[in-house]
Amino acid sequence: DPASGSLRFASKGSFPGRVPAAIGKKRRRIVVTGGAGFVGSHLVDKLISRGDEVIVIDNFFTGRKDNLAHLFGNPRFELIRHDVVDPILLEVDQIYHLACPASPTNVMGTLNMLGLAKRVGARFLLTSTSEVYGDPLEHPQKETYWGNVNPIGERSCYDEGKRTAETLAMDYNRGADVEVRIARIFNTYGPRMCLDDGRVVSNFVAQAIRKQPMTVYGDGKQTRSFQYVSDLVDGLVALMEGEHVGPFNLGNPGEFTMLELAEVVKETIDSSATVEFKPNTADDPHKRKPDISKAKELLNWEPKISLRDGLPLMVNDFRNRILEGDEGKGL
Ligand code: NAD
Ligand code: UDP
Ligand code: UDP
Repeated sequence: DPASGSLRFASKGSFPGRVPAAIGKKRRRIVVTGGAGFVGSHLVDKLISRGDEVIVIDNFFTGRKDNLAHLFGNPRFELIRHDVVDPILLEVDQIYHLACPASPTNVMGTLNMLGLAKRVGARFLLTSTSEVYGDPLEHPQKETYWGNVNPIGERSCYDEGKRTAETLAMDYNRGADVEVRIARIFNTYGPRMCLDDGRVVSNFVAQAIRKQPMTVYGDGKQTRSFQYVSDLVDGLVALMEGEHVGPFNLGNPGEFTMLELAEVVKETIDSSATVEFKPNTADDPHKRKPDISKAKELLNWEPKISLRDGLPLMVNDFRNRILEGDEGKGL
C-alpha cells in the first residue's frame, strides 16, 4: 500500500549510505530506461548533446544497440543490460522511465523505478500513453477525461498497465514525496522506429518502400494524430524540467484517417503505392486527438513538425534498415 506508513518512513534520503548524486557538481546524472528504443534513443541524444551524464537501462526486448552505437566510447554515456522488473541500485538525479513492452511487466518496472527515485530523491518521469483514454467518448481528449477502457480486452494489458503505472506514480508523489512527472504520449513516428511491431506508420512506410500494398485495417476511417519524435522529446524534457506533475498530453493535434495517412505516405514515398483492406483488431479506438492546451499553457510546448514535413525525415532510415534486413535474409 503505497500510502502506508512504511513507505513514508523509507522516504527519500533515509537509505543508509546514500550518496547524493549531484553533490559538488553541476552536471546531472540521468537514467533513461528503455533508452535503446525508438523514443528513448532520441531523448538520450538530446540529453548527451546538452552535457548531461546518461545511463541507459535496457533489456533489448524491442530496442537495439544500433540506436545508441554512435555514443559508445563517450565518457558521459553508459549502457546497462538490465530488466527493470528486477531491482537496481544507482545514484541519479532524474529518471526518464520509458521501458515498457506491451505486457504487465510495465507495473513491476515502474514500481522499481519509483522505489529507486524515492531512495535517491530523483525526479521521475513516466511515459504514459493516450491509450489510457481507451476508445474515447470525449473528443479531442483532455487530461481531465478518465477514459473508456475495456479491462478484459485483447489490448487492455498495455492500457491498464499504463493506467496502473500512473496510479503508482501519483501514490509515490502523494505518499513518499517523489517528484513525479506524467506524460500521456500520442502516436509518435520517426527514424529508428521499430520496423516490425505492426504500428501503422512503420507498416505503411515499410510497405511503400518494399512495393507492397499498404494494409488498411477496417474501413480506414478511424483517426489518429501523429507526432514527430523530436517534438515529443522536446516535450518530455520541458515536462521533466518544469514544475508541474501533470498528466500532460504530448501529441500533435493534426488528425488523420488511416486512408488519409496512406495518401500522405503515397505522396511522400511512391505515387504508385496501393492500399489493401484487412479486418480490424478488436477494441480499436475509433478516433484519437489530443487537446494540448494544458501543455501549451504550463510547459510552453507545442509540436512544430506536421505529418507532411515529418514523414520524409524517416524514409532514409527505413530504406537503409530495410535494405540491410532484406540482404541479411538473402532477399
Ligand atoms: P520501444 O519499444 O522502441 O522502446 C521501449 C524500450 O524499452 C526498448 O528499448 C525495450 O528494449 C525496452 N524495454 C522493454 N521492456 C524492458 C524491461 N523490462 N527492462 C528494460 N528495458 C525494457 O518503444 P517507444 O516507442 O520508444 O516507446 C517508449 C515509451 O513511450 C514506452 O513507455 C511507450 O509505452 C511510450 N509510448 C510510445 C508511443 C509511441 O507512439 N511511440 C505512444 C505512447 C506511449
Ligand atoms: N528499488 C530499486 N532500487 C532502489 C530502491 C528500490 O529497484 O534503489 C525497488 C525495490 O526493490 C522495490 C521497489 O523498488 O521492489 C519499491 O521500493 P520501495 O522502497 O518503495 O518499496 P518497499 O521495498 O518498501 O516495498
Ligand atoms: N492500422 C492499419 N494498418 C496497419 C496497422 C494499423 O490500418 O498496418 C490501424 C489500426 O487499426 C489503428 C491505427 O492504424 O486504427 C493505429 O494503429 P497503431 O497500432 O499504429 O496505434 P494505436 O492503435 O496504438 O493507436
